[in-house]
Amino acid sequence: MPGRFEHRELSDPQPGEGEVVVEVRACGLNHLDLWLEEAGLPMPVSLPRTPGCEIAGVICDVGRGVNDWRNGDAVAVQSNIFCGECEYCRRDEQSFCLRAEMLGVTRDGGFAEKVVVPVRALARLPSGVDFQTSAALTLAGSTAMHMLTNRAQVRQGDWVLVIGGASGVGSAAIQIARNLGARVISTGSTEAKRKLTQRLGAESVLDPAQPDWPAQVRKITNKRGVDLVVEHVGGEVLLKCFECLARGGTIVTCGATAGRDVTLNLWPFFVKQQRLVGSYGRDRADLQTTLDWAAAGKLRPVIDSIFPLDRTPVAFARLRSRQVLGKVLISPCMLP
Ligand SMILES: [Zn+2]
Repeated sequence: MPGRFEHRELSDPQPGEGEVVVEVRACGLNHLDLWLEEAGLPMPVSLPRTPGCEIAGVICDVGRGVNDWRNGDAVAVQSNIFCGECEYCRRDEQSFCLRAEMLGVTRDGGFAEKVVVPVRALARLPSGVDFQTSAALTLAGSTAMHMLTNRAQVRQGDWVLVIGGASGVGSAAIQIARNLGARVISTGSTEAKRKLTQRLGAESVLDPAQPDWPAQVRKITNKRGVDLVVEHVGGEVLLKCFECLARGGTIVTCGATAGRDVTLNLWPFFVKQQRLVGSYGRDRADLQTTLDWAAAGKLRPVIDSIFPLDRTPVAFARLRSRQVLGKVLISPCMLP
């Protein structure tokens, strides 16, 4: 259900102490934005709100007490703005922050020409990583990095099943798993998505509309099942992932677009000693690794389309259509 958008002229935002103003060059569109639009987030949101959580741009104004950053610095912005002071932040586990703010949800985000953010959310763009690459990887790529290298660990030779390999998270997960020496199976709901997923490095890509796709996963792995499933859909898909999982295997999940309530049969779950692991956001280290891998050419963005700011509602409709290959970006500096 689409919400109501308004494209308005606002006065320039002013940075507070410890904050900077970033001139947005590109901002990725995510399912989080769709949930915000649908009032589907489990938290109240005060309106009006500027969405947009995957920001890349250039600093154009710095507030008091900011020493390490100056106008003209090219930056990526971490979307889970951590407090920097709670017990989790103190041990560099910012994804667990007790007082986190969500950029574009609890404070104004990047579908705008300018946005105010605290300096602790900034990461310097490495040379060779342009704004569009950053806006396509900062959130989705670091979400996948957190899932595959922090919440779960991929070992050389593992079988990894990536659900929805043409999505932002899925396309990054395939590349990360391959870089870590895994063999990848994936799913894609259209021919175009399956072709893209194969190009990214999945050796087998299955159509989730075929009811026996979990049986096909078992066949490909000689009845053994996969060591790790990267899941972000939820609902029935999550349950089917258990049918694909080897003994001792792990499902790591970061989303529930297809359903938040599932009934799990615990008997095979504990007999096979499997793990179901939640993953949320990212730590600072995941974001840094994502940008470093992008600079090294190990992680490449898949960009579906780029829209100017005044066509943001069209971009939302495109992501909702489920025909997207990779990331949809908004670029405020692009001429309409
Ligand atoms: Zn914190």
